[in-house]
Amino acid sequence: MQDLIRRLLAEMGEDPTREGLLNTPKRVEKAYKFLTSGYDADIDHVLNNALFTVDYSEMVIVKDIDFYSLCEHHLLPFFGKCHVAYIPSDRVIGLSKIPRLVDVFARRLQVQERLTNQIAETIRDKIAPLGVAVVVEATHLCMSMRGVEKQNSFAVTSAMLGAFRDSARTRMEFLELIKLRSAVPAFTDRSASLACVGEDD
Ligand SMILES: [Zn+2]
Repeated sequence: MQDLIRRLLAEMGEDPTREGLLNTPKRVEKAYKFLTSGYDADIDHVLNNALFTVDYSEMVIVKDIDFYSLCEHHLLPFFGKCHVAYIPSDRVIGLSKIPRLVDVFARRLQVQERLTNQIAETIRDKIAPLGVAVVVEATHLCMSMRGVEKQNSFAVTSAMLGAFRDSARTRMEFLELIKLRSAVPAFTDRSASLACVGEDD
C-alpha cells in the first residue's frame, strides 16, 4: 500500500521524497488498515458471551452511538450518530456490544443505507427479536467539502424490522425517545434515498 500512496502523492503533483511526506505512506497505510478493520472482524467473536436469555420484552435502546466510516464512492469520511433499538423475544445482547457491532460495519467502505441495514439485520439474525430499529444520522465530507448542496450533506437513514415496521405506535415511541436533531420525512420505505452522490460524481 505504501508504494501506491507514494505514487498517489506524485500524481497529485507532490514530491513524495520531501521531508514532510516521507512517512506519510506509512501513516496512511496504518490509518486505512484501522479504518477498514471491520472486514477482518468476526461478528460472533465480537458478540461472544454477550447474548443472554431473559424474561424481558420492553424496548431496549442504545442511542447516540458515535461512528466514523468511509464512503465507498469517494473514500472520504462520513460520520455521525447511530441509534439502535430492539424488542427482545427471549434473548438480549450485552449493551456494550451494540457500539462494537456498529464499529464492525462502519470500519469498511460503506454507503449509509447499507451500514444501517447491516446493523439491523445482524441483530435480527443473532437474537431473533420481535423488532429492530436502526437510525443513522451522518455528515458526508464528500458532499460538504466539495460544496455539493450543503443541505444534503446531512443524511438520515433508517431500517425498521418486525414490530417497528408493523406498528406505527412502536416506531413513534422509538423516534420520540431518540429525538432526531433533523426533521425526518415519513418513515416508510426509504431505501432508495441516496446519502451520497454516486458513481458519476
Ligand atoms: Zn461519497
